[in-house]
Parts: sequence; structure tokens; C-alpha cells
Amino acid sequence: MSNFRQNHQSLWQHTAINPPKTETLEGSVQFDVTIVGAGITGLRTALELTKKGLSVAVLDKHEPGWGASGRSGGQINPLAHAQPNEIIDQLGPVFGPRMLDNYINSADEVFNIIEQYDLKCDAQRNGWLRGAHSRIAIPHLEKMAKNWSDLGLDIDSVEGNELHHLLGSEGYSYATRVKSGGSLHPLSYTRELARVALENGAKIYRDSEVTEVIKKGSSWQLTTNTAVVNSDWVVFCTNGYTDDSLKGLKETIIPLISVQAATRPLSDEEYSHVLPEGHTISDTRRVIYYGRKDNRNRILLGSLGTSELCVGSDRDRIHKAFEAVFPQFKPQDLEFFWGGRIAHTKDVLPHLHEPAPGILAGLGCNGRGIAMGTVMGRILSERVLGKKQQDMSIPTTPYNKFHFHRFYQVGVTITTKYFEARDALEVKFS
Ligand SMILES: Cc1cc2nc3c(=O)[nH]c(=O)nc-3n(C[C@H](O)[C@H](O)[C@H](O)COP(=O)(O)OP(=O)(O)OC[C@H]3O[C@@H](n4cnc5c(N)ncnc54)[C@H](O)[C@@H]3O)c2cc1C
Repeated sequence: MSNFRQNHQSLWQHTAINPPKTETLEGSVQFDVTIVGAGITGLRTALELTKKGLSVAVLDKHEPGWGASGRSGGQINPLAHAQPNEIIDQLGPVFGPRMLDNYINSADEVFNIIEQYDLKCDAQRNGWLRGAHSRIAIPHLEKMAKNWSDLGLDIDSVEGNELHHLLGSEGYSYATRVKSGGSLHPLSYTRELARVALENGAKIYRDSEVTEVIKKGSSWQLTTNTAVVNSDWVVFCTNGYTDDSLKGLKETIIPLISVQAATRPLSDEEYSHVLPEGHTISDTRRVIYYGRKDNRNRILLGSLGTSELCVGSDRDRIHKAFEAVFPQFKPQDLEFFWGGRIAHTKDVLPHLHEPAPGILAGLGCNGRGIAMGTVMGRILSERVLGKKQQDMSIPTTPYNKFHFHRFYQVGVTITTKYFEARDALEVKFS
């Protein structure tokens, strides 16, 4: 077991590989590039830049994998939330198709990196099932399957008894199946990215909270609690944990809470019956259910929630999720509960910002950051290495802020309750 310090008890903390050796940054130092946030996005950026010979520091308020990257469901889902034509409408004829390609190729990119660096993260590529929570949702899924398949994604549908067999339950009767999807151990993946970044020369610092960024001569100066860093480039990869250190960035996302639970270790018989072919699952509920197996005889299931500790009503929601999808497991079968923050953007797409020359931010993977955070890190590194904005595969956009951002918690609570009620009605009358 690692010495990971968090405000939650995740299964991943108990089963991850050991954390990389990192220190707190002290004194006055200089790097070509400073990256804020040691999650998947920041560490992938660091890896690509150090491979090109740049001196790179990654600073984290806590430690590598402390954020969503170490807490997630670990699903590698190569698909956007929207239909392809909606993305083309939003981003236009140049960046729209490039964004679609980013999604479609994102799972391959993750598996390629895992293979290239031999990352020890329990990666499996058994496909992803997205279930219809009610009959009303089926036409939407059919349309998604057709439109994304026309673009080359290997997606089909599965229903009835065949689906019940793949689930090990009757939780859904219609689902789309994306064969290139898969799963990994998210904390081990993040720690392994840190390992290879370190091996390639990156410096990674823990307990180093960036509190201010100012222009100092021709470079940028970052202040932490214990150090001052000067760099030509500063890259913010803080996603759902974005704070006020870069003015205005926080207002571009709503940090939604996602919560999940893992069962006790199951008997081989119980375990082999559920998701027998190792698919991951999620569904069409507005207040989504998502789940998978780990490779140590446990089943995980999650949803949206209100507290990163996954307490109170969040546990009730998880219990309901199990009752709906895997009713064979009861509340007393659940051993770990935890949660974390997802960065939700206004258009539900990831965003790249360059608010001043030499300052970059890449965030907003909207719950698909295992794959898209990995892609985003590469794209951020390309910009630092000189790629022109017009040639990038994600457009560089001005901040698109949420109005009344400081009241977001009230808004999220009310919306979640409303959406949950609509989901429940649709299930009841379907
Ligand atoms: C419960 C849960 C389940 C999820 N399930 C899935 C899933 O199955 N599949 C999927 O694709 N995605 C999933 N996601 C989303 C995915 O985990 C994220 O999109 C992805 O991990 C984001 O990675 P990141 O590196 O951009 O940010 P993070 O991993 O969140 O890292 C941000 C880091 O920034 C640091 N930081 C913030 N401010 C500062 C500062 N001022 N100074 C220094 N450091 C700072 C934080 O300490 C943190 O470590 C899930 C998320 C959650 C919370």
C-alpha cells in the first residue's frame, strides 16, 4: 500500500504501484517550462517536452495522481458526449473534424503509450458498453452509433439476452459497444507516466502549490509556498481542481463531483458471472451510472454526487445504482467509497487557452480525461515546441466563462435532483 494522502479512501490507493519519489520545490529556480498539475495531462505534457530536451518542472499542490487522474473510473472511452455534426457546428469545418479524430484515436494513443513505455497499470482492451437507461434513450444511442461508425469508429449495438450475458445482469436491454475502449488502473497509470517523465529528465515536485503567476522581464515567474520559478512557458493542467492562481481560468469550468464504490473481493464464481468478457459500462442517464471490474475480483460502480468523500445521499445514489445495474450486490457488499472532481465546460468539449504569450491551459475533458487528457498533454507539448495555433488539433479559444460561477454549487445540486427525477420517470414509464 502506498503513502498517498487524500481526503478519500479509494480502492486505487490500496492497489496502486508505489508512488514516484518526489520532493517539495525550494529556493529560486529556472526551467524552460513549468507545468502546474501532476495528473495525466500535466505528466503527458512533461514527458513529451523532456523527450525533446527541454528542462521541465511539474508542480503539484499535493502529489502526482492526487486529483481526478488517481481517482477516476479508469475507463478509456474514445467518444465525445455529442453527435459528430454538433461538434462540427460548434467548432467549424477545420477544427470540428480534427476534434472528432482526437476522440476516435484517443484510446489507441493511450494503449500505444502503455506499450511503448511498458506502463504497469493493468490495462485491458475489452470494449465499452453504453446502456440505454430507458426505451426513450435508444434512438439517441442508435444515432450515435451510426454517426460515429460513419467516421470510422468501431461501434455497434447489442441487445436482449446477448447483452444480459455480457453484463451478468438485466441492468440494460440495449447498449452500444465500442470495441476500442478499455480500462486501466488510473492511479498506477498516472504514477507510471510520472516515472517515465522522471526517467526522461523531468523534475516533479509535490506539496508545491502555485499561488501566483506574473510576467518578469521576458519570462514568467511562479510563486509557490516555498519557491520562486522562472520559465519561458507555463502550462496549466489543473482541470477540475483549477483555483485562482491563473486569473479567470476557474470560471471556465464547473467542477462536478463524481463518486464511486467498489465491492469486497468477490468469489471467483461471483466475479466471473459479472461482465464476463471484461467490458466497461456506462449509461445514458443524465446522472450517469458507470462501472467495471478491477482485476482483483471487485466490481466498481459510480455516478455523480455532491461530496468527494462520497457520504450521505451519495452513498444512497450508489446503492440505487447497484440495485438498478447489479442487484446481486447489496450495500453490505461495498467496501470502498470515494469521489473527485470532473471539469465540465459550457460546450462539453475540452479547451485549450493561451491567455497570454507563454501561458497555456488545457482542461475540460468532461469525464473522458483518461483518453482525452493523454491526448491533450501531447497537444499542449506541440504548442510549446512551436506548432502554430491554426495547425493544432484543438482550437485555441478565449475563456468561455460560466455566468454566476460562484453560485455553481447551488445550481449543480438543483440540476442534479431535477435530472435524477427525470431519469427515474423515464425508467418507470419505459
Ligand atoms: C470519480 C471520477 C471518475 C472518473 N472516471 C473517468 C473514467 O472512467 N474515464 C475517463 O476518461 N475519465 C474519468 N474521469 C475524469 C478524469 O479522471 C479526468 O478528466 C482526468 O483525470 C483529468 O486529468 P488532469 O491531469 O487534467 O487533472 P487532475 O488529475 O485532476 O490533476 C490536476 C492537478 O492539479 C493540481 N493543482 C491544482 N491547482 C494547483 C496549484 N495552484 N498548484 C499546484 N497544483 C495544483 C491538483 O493537486 C491535481 O493533482 C473521472 C473523474 C472522477 C473524479
